[in-house]
Amino acid sequence: MSKFNEISFSKNILNRDANIRISPSFLQDALKNPVTKIALFCDDFVFFPVQNDKITNPTTYKYEDIKGFVNDNAFWIAAGFNDANAPILLLNIDAKYKEDCEQKLNGSFQILRSALWQIKITESEIYGLGNSLYSWHKNHQFCAKCGSKTDVADFGFKRICPNCNTEHFPRVDPVVIMLVTKDDKCLFGRSKFFPPGLYSILAGFMEPCETIEQACKREVFEETSIEIEKVEYIANQPWPFASQLMIGLHAFAKNSEIKINEDELEDALWLSRDEVRQLLSKDGFEINGTKVFGPRPSAIAHALVSDWLDNI
Ligand SMILES: [Zn+2]
Repeated sequence: MSKFNEISFSKNILNRDANIRISPSFLQDALKNPVTKIALFCDDFVFFPVQNDKITNPTTYKYEDIKGFVNDNAFWIAAGFNDANAPILLLNIDAKYKEDCEQKLNGSFQILRSALWQIKITESEIYGLGNSLYSWHKNHQFCAKCGSKTDVADFGFKRICPNCNTEHFPRVDPVVIMLVTKDDKCLFGRSKFFPPGLYSILAGFMEPCETIEQACKREVFEETSIEIEKVEYIANQPWPFASQLMIGLHAFAKNSEIKINEDELEDALWLSRDEVRQLLSKDGFEINGTKVFGPRPSAIAHALVSDWLDNI
């Protein structure tokens, strides 16, 4: 299972005990606590320090370092405690301080996904959590029941409608992602929404009142007409763009003839272990004269495939 230690957002270092985290005094106590660590965001972008004109690993700050950027529009989220029992706060600063903050702290606000490779695996949970929550708040300002503007509650983990009292919780979208194998080959596909040259294993959103196994069978059949006879759960990964939970599976195919659904896929094919090794390599693999490459090491797709390659 070591392959799954190397993927982003999966090292849960936060103690998220809500009994402590959402207590009324948590924020005030944390701001006075010298060991409290604050991760900086602005308009759901993450702050990355810059050294020699290059962004480096994001770091957390003490309240003293950042209090000049705190006004009434500061949006605090109480993330919890880290593994050394230090309170972890997320702070989304007022956009009017963005440039001032970048200048004084010598850094740059970046989209998390575009700089994911800069985040240490052990710290990715904090920045992924902020990315998911701040994006959710930005896009869910109004009550789905009555249309009124809602208020933030529970230090960022809930919104409440002041008109009808409906509570709104941050959404998490479950996605099945499956390594499909048959006769020692693995199924890869290319969605029309993928970046140029990328091939990966199949994935799809679950539907309401559907089991994980059924979602896996449905998605594989919808996209390729391949029937699945057995599904095994392998691992999972939070994927905070915007807020998915990737459920990693190994699916065993009954048949091998592929009929792609062109609304979903541009291409799908079976690859041997040697071909998959090339696909994951730095040099990539060639399909129909075009250089293609596989999923990145930070993603569960890469870990599922690598794990299969190692388990002959
Ligand atoms: Zn309402």
